[in-house]
Amino acid sequence: MQQRLINVPEWHEFAACRSRQDLNWIEAWPGDDAEACKAVCRCCPVRLICAITALSAAEQGGVWGGLDADDRAALARESGQGSLPDLPPQGEARDRAAAAPSLAGIA
Ligand code: SF4
Repeated sequence: MQQRLINVPEWHEFAACRSRQDLNWIEAWPGDDAEACKAVCRCCPVRLICAITALSAAEQGGVWGGLDADDRAALARESGQGSLPDLPPQGEARDRAAAAPSLAGIA
């Protein structure tokens, strides 16, 4: 088994962005690389868990799960929270989606 040097989630192995390192994912603020990143996210098989991870951590920058910082802020406002509460800490993506019904439209 290969040892990981940094804490990368298992699902990232399937991430579509792994093959698009030409885009600036971490600092993709709305209007920069964000739209190009979002286009990649639309066909990513781990989009939902990626979005939920970012929302749960209240990530401030970058594109995660097809959502830029403005998109995540809008979802947080709609939910009445700064981030999504009461998500299962180690659940399957569908369990997390059930706990966060406002995300159903992005899956
Ligand atoms: S949803 Fe987007 S940011 Fe998340 S892993 Fe997939 S391609 Fe990367």
